Amino acid sequence: MVRGRTTKSLSYEILIFVPLPFLFYVTIKGMDKIIKTISENGAFRAYVLDSTETVRTAQEKHQTLASSTVALGRTLIASQILAANEKGDTKITVKVLGTSSLGAIITVADTKGTVKGYVQNSGVDIKKTATGEVLVGPFVGNGEFLVITDYGTGNPYHSMTPLVSGEIGEDLAFYLTESQQTPSAIGLNVLLDTNDKVKVAGGFLLQVLPGAKEEEITRFEKRIQEMPAISTLLESENHIEALLSAIYGNEPYKRLSEEELRFQCDCSKERFLNALSSLPKSDLEEMRDEDHGAEITCQFCQSTYHFDEKDLEELIRDKS
Ligand SMILES: [Zn+2]
Repeated sequence: MVRGRTTKSLSYEILIFVPLPFLFYVTIKGMDKIIKTISENGAFRAYVLDSTETVRTAQEKHQTLASSTVALGRTLIASQILAANEKGDTKITVKVLGTSSLGAIITVADTKGTVKGYVQNSGVDIKKTATGEVLVGPFVGNGEFLVITDYGTGNPYHSMTPLVSGEIGEDLAFYLTESQQTPSAIGLNVLLDTNDKVKVAGGFLLQVLPGAKEEEITRFEKRIQEMPAISTLLESENHIEALLSAIYGNEPYKRLSEEELRFQCDCSKERFLNALSSLPKSDLEEMRDEDHGAEITCQFCQSTYHFDEKDLEELIRDKS
C-alpha cells in the first residue's frame, strides 16, 4: 500500500517537473531528422531528410517572403545533406552566389545536425500567374555554387562549380558529380501553404558507391527517373517513408542511423565582443561618444546584441 502511494506521488512529481516548453515542442512541433541508409549489397547509399522545422524557423527568424523562403530553405537542406556526408567535427558553408535579385544565400551546417543561414534579399515573392508556383531559379540567376569545408584544422577547403539552374537541387547534384566525382541524384524542396508559411520541407540524396554493377545502376536510374516529383512525395503523410520506398522500390536496404536536425545559431554576445575588439580604437571611441553604445544584429539568426558605453570603454582600455 505504502509503496503504491510512493510510486504514485513520484510519478506526479515527474509530471510536474517536465519542462513545459519541452512538452510543447514534442507534441506540437516534432523534430527534424535525417535517416541514413545503405542498400543491402552496399552499392548505393541514400539519405532522406525532414527539414520542415529547420526551414520554418529560418522563415520566422528572417521574415522571408515566398521565393526567398524556398531559396533559403533549399540551400539549408543542401548544406544539411553535405554535412551528413562528413565525419568528425566538420563545418560546411554553402554560398549560392547568384547575380539576380535574391542576392547571396549563405548557410553553415555542421556534423552535429545544426544549420544556420540567411538570404541577402528576404523580400522576393514571385509566383507563376497560372499555377501559383513559387519561382526561385530566375531570381538566383547565374553565378557560383561555393562549398567551404572546414575540418577544424584552420585550412578550410574551397570547392566551386557554376550554378546550373539556380534551383539549388540541380546545382548541388552538379557540384557533387563534378567536384566529388560521385554520381548523385538529389531531390529537395520546400512547400508553402496558402499563407506562404512553410508546410513541409525535405529531400533526399542517392549516391552510387564504388563497386556498383552496371545493371544495378541502370535499375536505380530508371527508378529515380520514374519516381513521382519531389513535391508530390513531400505531400505524403509520411514523406520520409515515401521517399525511401520511391528510392529503393522492392530492393532490400539497411537503416544505418537516424539523427536530429535543427536550425540553430552559435552566436553570442561574447563572439560579437571579440569582433568589436578588432575594430580600430578611433571607431570604438566614436561609438562610445556619439552613439553612446553599439547594437549588432546577427545576420544568421537576427538576434540583436547591445553594447553599452561601459562595454566599449573596456574594449578601448584594452587597446591602450
Ligand atoms: Zn546568430
